[in-house]
Amino acid sequence: MARLYACDLHNHTCLSPCAQLDMHPRALVAACLARGLDLVAITDHNASENIVHVMQAARDTPLVVIPGMEVTTKEEAHVLALFASLETVGLFQEIIYSRLPGDNDERRFGCQPIVNEREEVEAFNTHLLFSATTMALNDVTGNIHSLGGIAIASHIDRSFFSIISQLGCVPESAGFNGLEISAALGIAGGRRRFPGLSRYTFITSSDAHCLNDVGRSCTMMYLESPCFAEIQLALARRGGRCVEEPLP
Ligand SMILES: [Zn+2]
Ligand SMILES: [Zn+2]
Repeated sequence: MARLYACDLHNHTCLSPCAQLDMHPRALVAACLARGLDLVAITDHNASENIVHVMQAARDTPLVVIPGMEVTTKEEAHVLALFASLETVGLFQEIIYSRLPGDNDERRFGCQPIVNEREEVEAFNTHLLFSATTMALNDVTGNIHSLGGIAIASHIDRSFFSIISQLGCVPESAGFNGLEISAALGIAGGRRRFPGLSRYTFITSSDAHCLNDVGRSCTMMYLESPCFAEIQLALARRGGRCVEEPLP
């Protein structure tokens, strides 16, 4: 029997150069639980090293953690990639790093710490995570899908780093499993602004870069249980699973 779960499919940790350093795994899990989330996806910019530590921090709690990443395509559009396991996100990470040029400059972009669940810094990611990959949009979504993942266009209503700001449209060929509307506009606002995209499932997320923003917006989903496979069904509107849409 499907019931409603609070799912936030877009969240950063301190590994993202633009996120605050207090977004370490233990604090992030505590904030998710305090805000009533059932499921959170960890989606750092072009990187995934903190996911295992968020999973460790959530191990004895009811919070479900989904591995993911927010990829910057060659066109400078942000795409959320969600996967069923750490192994799969690891395979995807290898592809991304082979197509992500440059080394981080901490003085310009900030540090990119890998922090474990005990708040210990284990290492610093040295890739230039802030930059765009050399992968075109369909290359990114094609690789996500070939690994069994979910591809969602990030914050399509934003005037920068979104598929619409960069390409002017949502290409059918990208095969997106869903489109994200930013927290400020929400799903109902997105439906009003984008009537031509009614065939797509919309979600909304916190896109949190600081602890205060964790859980500021989430997507209510009818699922049998909070897990990757059920999210896939809800985005495809199959088997009684779906996103609950607020009235416009
Ligand atoms: Zn983004
Ligand atoms: Zn983001």
